[in-house]
Amino acid sequence: MAPTRTFSCNSFNPSMALFSRTHFSIPLYKDISPRRAKQSKKLMPIKATVAEAPHAVGKTGGDAAPQKKKKKIRVLVAGGGIGGLVFALAAKRKGFDVLVFEKDMSAIRGEGQYRGPIQIQSNALAALEAIDLEVAEEVMRVGCITGDRINGLVDGISGSWYIKFDTFTPAAERGLPVTRVISRMALQEILARAVGEDVIMNDSNVVDFVDHGDKVTVELENGQKYGGDLLVGADGIWSKVRNKLFGQAEAIYSGYTCYTGIADFIPVDIESVGYRVFLGHKQYFVSSDVGAGKMQWYAFHQEPAGGADIPNGQKERLLEIFEDWCDNVIDLILATEEEAILRRDIYDRTPTFTWGKGRVTLLGDSIHAMQPNMGQGGCMAIEDSYQLASELDNAWQQSIKSGCQIDFDSSLKSYEKERRFRVAIVHGMARMAALMASTYKAYLGVGLGPLEFLTKFRIPHPGRVGGRFFIDKIMPFMLNWVLGGNSSKLEGRPVCCRLSDKANDQLHRWFEDDDALERAINGEWILLPCGDEAGPTKAICLSQDEMKPCIIGSIQQKDHPGSSIILALPQVSQMHARINYKDGTFFLTDLRSQHGTWITDNEGRRYRVPPNYPARIRPSNVIQFGSDKVSYLVKVTRSGPIESEKEGTKLYQKSSNEQIFSAGFDSLVAKHILVMSGVEPAIRTHLFRSFPES
Ligand SMILES: Cc1cc2nc3c(=O)[nH]c(=O)nc-3n(C[C@H](O)[C@H](O)[C@H](O)COP(=O)(O)OP(=O)(O)OC[C@H]3O[C@@H](n4cnc5c(N)ncnc54)[C@H](O)[C@@H]3O)c2cc1C
Repeated sequence: MAPTRTFSCNSFNPSMALFSRTHFSIPLYKDISPRRAKQSKKLMPIKATVAEAPHAVGKTGGDAAPQKKKKKIRVLVAGGGIGGLVFALAAKRKGFDVLVFEKDMSAIRGEGQYRGPIQIQSNALAALEAIDLEVAEEVMRVGCITGDRINGLVDGISGSWYIKFDTFTPAAERGLPVTRVISRMALQEILARAVGEDVIMNDSNVVDFVDHGDKVTVELENGQKYGGDLLVGADGIWSKVRNKLFGQAEAIYSGYTCYTGIADFIPVDIESVGYRVFLGHKQYFVSSDVGAGKMQWYAFHQEPAGGADIPNGQKERLLEIFEDWCDNVIDLILATEEEAILRRDIYDRTPTFTWGKGRVTLLGDSIHAMQPNMGQGGCMAIEDSYQLASELDNAWQQSIKSGCQIDFDSSLKSYEKERRFRVAIVHGMARMAALMASTYKAYLGVGLGPLEFLTKFRIPHPGRVGGRFFIDKIMPFMLNWVLGGNSSKLEGRPVCCRLSDKANDQLHRWFEDDDALERAINGEWILLPCGDEAGPTKAICLSQDEMKPCIIGSIQQKDHPGSSIILALPQVSQMHARINYKDGTFFLTDLRSQHGTWITDNEGRRYRVPPNYPARIRPSNVIQFGSDKVSYLVKVTRSGPIESEKEGTKLYQKSSNEQIFSAGFDSLVAKHILVMSGVEPAIRTHLFRSFPES
């Protein structure tokens, strides 16, 4: 079902970037001059073997070769995820000697083989710029910008906008890079290459450490031991370093299980919308453009931890959970291969005031794993990395000045102090966001058991209305603070305006005006037959030529300038209705038909179109001519015919005369298209009945 055309965007093909246990492909970063790199959008991977680690002590016999580094301080890092690698990079750039132990380069926090993309927001990009400008540029080139479009919250069922987020202005005002999404594998490759293969030890599972007071020794699963001046535990939510420091503590279950998937799919509003959070009661769904014609999604569902699905049953379960949700959600689930769906329970850890002891400290998820709702977990790890490397550098400079030993203790305390407040707030916001989803109710009656029938009246829930007012007021402050980060304190980052990051000229208008946003949709509008009379009727393509309206009636309209659609059905009048295009949208006018023309809107409300008065039609509306037997679903698809890979057939084809589509799709495809509708379950059931299984 998914469109096969690719969307042009600076993108990195994740399949290029497979790590193996003993090898990882490191694109030739240093061989690409900044100028050449600009010309070449893709990275060139080479295979590089992870070098045998130097400086083993204990079993392998004590500190070996002297280091030729500027600062004779060795920092050991447990974990080569985002936090571990960014910190290693920052410390290396400050001249420290670093050694990273990674137990398995091929698995970053259970994201599975393809390891889905990650959003790196302005605050983290700015910190990355301060750490290493070249690396930051590379990440930004490879990533797909989402911060230049509308992002925000919508109602899951109707798809209507609830709150829009302006992530562009906070960045632009401070001259920060605009938020990007990047494949985790691409990010990890860029970082690993910049850190250097001699610094990262793959297959190195840290199982223990000893803080001797004047040095730290790390022990790996294979029995090898390594000595250093300091240990940074960047080993994620299930951190062993944390356990050893503070004792075993259970991670906290968020109450949500999360399915993630990635699909070859280009929504019709890709030019205007970056990511969207679809809200529902005790469930929510996030979709984001990740470039290269792909969309990433996360489906959260409140249920006890530890649940499992039947083999190949995830997609089916998701379609059940999100059954009556809008097309944007259903389309994406349908377009995703079963194998590309992963499920995991979401946990976090309450951050503590103390992040370390003696010569050992923690960073990233190991100390403050948070729920993914703010897309800030990895970003916070990047900010931590900048701060920790800076504090260590300051301590080093102090020791040079004073001629005394470097004071690790104070530098680690200072790092904690700088970070814990900000991290705790972002962590709290991520929890609040989940809480909001748990309490979100679109209509009066939702979650009220026996009073659930009230939902059919579609009375907006007071909580939804009040919540909207509240979020609308505080969101700009929140975004400013989160995305602005500690950018004013960052050292080493050029204070320049990122003129290269531009938003669409219409962005500000789209914030104010849902209508303008809808008009920006770029696609083909078609009416898909879905009533009982669907058999004899055909799909109708609506012309976007203002001079060529479409007349619907039971007889041919010969003298009419536009197209004439004949529906020779009992309740359709001779000249029943007209659909015309004006200023980027379509209007439906009932031509005083005997049985009327009806619209069922996205909220499920059905109303009769007043005669001779143009009514706006929107995607996912259902239009009925005369009776509910002659129903059409308004569907907007990307321009051009869509190839169905699985069925190997064209879903529909444009016929130049009369602009009528030959609805030559088989029933399975038709059923899929109809599942894409965001209409009421009752109507959908009705639609299904029209297309029996082949
Ligand atoms: C569904 C989902 C979506 C998310 N989306 C975003 C997003 O859009 N933006 C964002 O900023 N954040 C996001 N996050 C959060 C983000 O993934 C984490 O916060 C981030 O990965 C933390 O980085 P880290 O380096 O601290 O830990 P990790 O990424 O977990 O890395 C830890 C590393 O340590 C290694 N390791 C573990 N134990 C040992 C050991 N004993 N010895 C050696 N190595 C070890 C692991 O193999 C791993 O490589 C998301 C999280 C989830 C679950």
